[in-house]
Amino acid sequence: MARKDYDAIVVGSGPNGLSAAITMQRAGLSVLLLEMKETIGGGLRTKELTLPGFKHDVCSAIHPLAAGSPFFRQLPLHQFGLEYIYPEVSAAHPFDDGGAAALFRSVEETAQSLGRDEKQYLKLMRPLVKDWPKLAPDVLGPLHFPDHPVALAQFGLNAITSAKFLANRFVTKEAKGLWGGMCAHSIQPLSNIASSAIGLVLMATGHLRGWPIPKGGSYSIANALASYFVSIGGKIQTNFHVQHLDDLPVSDAVLFDVTPKQLLKIAGQRFSFLYKWQMNRYRYGMGVFKIDWALDDTIPFTADACSKAGTIHLGNTFAEIASAELLTSKGKIAEKPFVLLAQQSVYDASRAPAGRHTAWAYCHVPNGSQVDMTEAIEQQVERFAPGFRERILARHTINTFQMQEYNPNYIGGDINGGVIDITQLYTRPVISLSPYRTSAKGLYICSLSTPPGGGVHGMCGYYAAKRALKDVFDLEEKIGLASG
Ligand SMILES: Cc1cc2nc3c(=O)[nH]c(=O)nc-3n(C[C@H](O)[C@H](O)[C@H](O)COP(=O)(O)OP(=O)(O)OC[C@H]3O[C@@H](n4cnc5c(N)ncnc54)[C@H](O)[C@@H]3O)c2cc1C
Repeated sequence: MARKDYDAIVVGSGPNGLSAAITMQRAGLSVLLLEMKETIGGGLRTKELTLPGFKHDVCSAIHPLAAGSPFFRQLPLHQFGLEYIYPEVSAAHPFDDGGAAALFRSVEETAQSLGRDEKQYLKLMRPLVKDWPKLAPDVLGPLHFPDHPVALAQFGLNAITSAKFLANRFVTKEAKGLWGGMCAHSIQPLSNIASSAIGLVLMATGHLRGWPIPKGGSYSIANALASYFVSIGGKIQTNFHVQHLDDLPVSDAVLFDVTPKQLLKIAGQRFSFLYKWQMNRYRYGMGVFKIDWALDDTIPFTADACSKAGTIHLGNTFAEIASAELLTSKGKIAEKPFVLLAQQSVYDASRAPAGRHTAWAYCHVPNGSQVDMTEAIEQQVERFAPGFRERILARHTINTFQMQEYNPNYIGGDINGGVIDITQLYTRPVISLSPYRTSAKGLYICSLSTPPGGGVHGMCGYYAAKRALKDVFDLEEKIGLASG
């Protein structure tokens, strides 16, 4: 038998790869983390995309899921340079009449701002926010018998409904719109079953932990995770593109931070017929078109709440957002797309030269679309912030094709590593009680294509490593989970 180089290897250094590597290294194993690009981080990279001195988050920007991650909260990341900044308003949602709804840190303040929907909002969110710390490890993990079945059942009853169904509980355009913007993060029609789930999670974590931005850029999260990993003895090698299993040093277990399509190419020959068949049926969803701007001033939003927010959802009413998402899911281009915008430099001066600003935005487009959405996105910003265009110094755009070239995990521009609808929510990538285990001994998948899915939280990596520790090394992971 060949001499073993490492106990375990992790392929891909996104937040899930880093989390998997840390979990196994902490359990006392020797772990090598491999990354095809010259820098680590996956969806956590920050670069000068437009002009010198303007630091843009290439992918993720806003981090309620990272701040609330039961896994990240275990780790001493602040000792490795991670500092979160909390905008005064977590998210704002402007309307054509010049007003805006807002997600504040406080449930009560948010409810009060929603006027006639105050009671409905409290009824929906208060119990969830109260239970979220104990629910998070259950919700943000694979299907298993829950530690808190009653609280989980209450969450599940709302989460399983469509965003459209739950929106009917509200009467004001403000509450409906705010809710629609949150649920549109699920990147699917708002009439789909379980499209409410992500809205509930984002609002609950927003109330408990806020919607922070990492000081300096999203890469601060990756850098802190990587520095911590190295400090406990982990090894990282960049510029190492794994295209075949034979490329790898010898180890007992390999965990892949990639999506099914790529894993089939790398290791398909080792999989059973049934596993390959299921992986081939895995579905990818809508893509995104993204813009980063260098600005000579802040964005001149009409609504005050928008100027105070880290994140702004531009889509006007629930009906308008629902219609844009439905159209896009059918392969068409929405003239007025739902736009997610972040203005990091308003809260973090290190992102731009003195007096200047950055902004980050994207909208959903059909998978694989190469349509340039610059005009449509800028029109949506201008609609709620007249004069915005005059402040643009430079822009950088990326379509779905370029997105996949940049990171092969974004198949056709799908930033969730596969549709997160009811059929792939907890059964990603295949129907199994151990979705992280492949049919090949010692090979695991730990990416966002496993439960709980997309977003920067590291929970896919943590649970995949936990599975491998038990199967291959007969070890239980040594880090428990914090409350969410
Ligand atoms: C435009 C955009 C905006 C987003 N906004 C947010 C946000 O605001 N908040 C949020 O929480 N999430 C956001 N996300 C989603 C988030 O970035 C992802 O869900 C998250 O990064 C997934 O983590 P991962 O570790 O599973 O995969 P990734 O982050 O994709 O990491 C995978 C890594 O594996 C490497 N790799 C792939 N194949 C190989 C190979 N064969 N050999 C070696 N290395 C390989 C890749 O280079 C990459 O570094 C956004 C994503 C995008 C694209």
